[in-house]
Amino acid sequence: MRTRLLGAIALAAASALALAGCGSDDSGSGGGGKKITIGIKFDQPGLGFKVGDKYSGFDVDVATYIAKKLGYSADQITWKESPSAQRETLLSTHQVDMVVATYSITDERKKTVAFAGPYFVAGQDLLVKNDNTDITGPESLDGKKLCSVTGSTSAQKIKDTYANKVNLVEYPGYAECVTALNGGAVDAVTTDDIILAGLAAQPANKGKVKVVGKPFTTENYGVGLPKDNKTCQKVTDAIKSMIDDGSWQKFLDTNLEGTGYKPDSSKNPPTPAACG
Ligand code: GLU
Repeated sequence: MRTRLLGAIALAAASALALAGCGSDDSGSGGGGKKITIGIKFDQPGLGFKVGDKYSGFDVDVATYIAKKLGYSADQITWKESPSAQRETLLSTHQVDMVVATYSITDERKKTVAFAGPYFVAGQDLLVKNDNTDITGPESLDGKKLCSVTGSTSAQKIKDTYANKVNLVEYPGYAECVTALNGGAVDAVTTDDIILAGLAAQPANKGKVKVVGKPFTTENYGVGLPKDNKTCQKVTDAIKSMIDDGSWQKFLDTNLEGTGYKPDSSKNPPTPAACG
């Protein structure tokens, strides 16, 4: 009886260890049933988008390419929704191994997370109703109601630069902001031009909204990593080869098709910075 009980305890301990080993190994060598958890957006069409159990978008393709270079096949990736305000926490608590989610590299964020990249350069812009004529750029926002997302550089920019003339409403995601715009609750939505272009091209929004087309910031998209990562150099090398072998262009072309969006060619493709 005693022996059987001890045996059972030993077995339970062994399987707990096996499980822990399986989940926590993020060394990036891949194979052997290992998994990598990647944070993306679920509600940004053309970038990070979930429909049913299908994930699509430029960030999904970039992440899948990088994961492959780290030794993980597509079916070894677990996608985790990473809203703007949660990215630093998800990384620093190791709930995700990396974040590829329209995530701008900033000095503030670098205090808690590491970045590889940039792999893309976007710019903050405005989305308005199709028939709007008075909002032509950030200088024409006096007294307007603006929607952006909590924890984003977009909301921060409005607070830092236009706070005294703009009424800012914050939601967890940009799709909710577009709903507010369509319903007349706000006058404009602000975030990166590439995100707004993807939302504007959605069948439900097409013909109803338009991107103003006057970007007023530079958003360097990076791959977010935990501070104590061991993969930054490998991720940087993967970004370089993705640009060099034509994959970067292909991912952009396929995901932006039908949006009318043109990346700023004076800034794209970017040269990834050194790690560390
Ligand atoms: N790129 C900006 C940021 O990282 C805005 C887009 C987003 O919220 O994901 O905050």
